[in-house]
Amino acid sequence: MRFVDEVKGFLFDLDGVLWLGDQPIPGVAEVLRRLRAADKKLMFVSNTSSRSKAKCLEVFERMGMAVQPDEVFVASECAARYIAAKRPGAVTYVLGSPGLFDEAVRAGLDARDPSTRQPDRADFVLVGKDNDLTFTRLTCALRALKAGAEFIAVNCDPTVPVADGLEPGAGAVAAAISVMVGRDPDVVVGKPGTLLLEMALKSSGLSASECAIVGDTPESDIAAGNALGMRTVLVLTGNSDGNSPDGSCEFPDALKPDHIIESVLDLMP
Ligand SMILES: [Mg+2]
Repeated sequence: MRFVDEVKGFLFDLDGVLWLGDQPIPGVAEVLRRLRAADKKLMFVSNTSSRSKAKCLEVFERMGMAVQPDEVFVASECAARYIAAKRPGAVTYVLGSPGLFDEAVRAGLDARDPSTRQPDRADFVLVGKDNDLTFTRLTCALRALKAGAEFIAVNCDPTVPVADGLEPGAGAVAAAISVMVGRDPDVVVGKPGTLLLEMALKSSGLSASECAIVGDTPESDIAAGNALGMRTVLVLTGNSDGNSPDGSCEFPDALKPDHIIESVLDLMP
């Protein structure tokens, strides 16, 4: 692929790009090694709200892919760090998994369990994929937001694929809350929001125009890359068959990838 020569940094989505479920795409580890040997900076950007960064690093290890912790950007961790940078020690109700709660604690936030109908005054409500969602937890979020807290969504994925089918994603929980409070999240950290990618770029020292994002989902990976003016590369190993999400051949501009390749292996044939 000629464009590879022009790119200094690659941001890779994970599921559907480097692996499928619990199976690595054969040959990916070698491609990553060769990109490094060609002096490319590698970054890995995951929308996950349910896994902590530590758990994500365990998956890389299990898949036989050598990555450094500072190359991995997980939306759960980035959301917690974003809040901590805005207000250190912020009182934050966390509707999400134990992994998300852990990240909030690690970022030094005053993380609170939302299992109360009478929340304290809070600075933020942080929303991820909440497998323990209850009426009480929704009530807590509603009241904390109405009392002035900021509304941060880890991502807006409506569903998440798991071993036995689909489950509601962070976006479904955020949407339920949006309906109650009459507004969208103040910030969506993960793709198609741009904060996750911006944090990766900042840490790499590269600009968006020097980088390419490689993803399998036009509505998230490609949309986020296009919004930042990054080169965008769609692979067909995951969510997309190469057609627009509405089934037509023409992608709308915001979702249109600069390049379509069969798999990551085509980056280094
Ligand atoms: Mg993906």
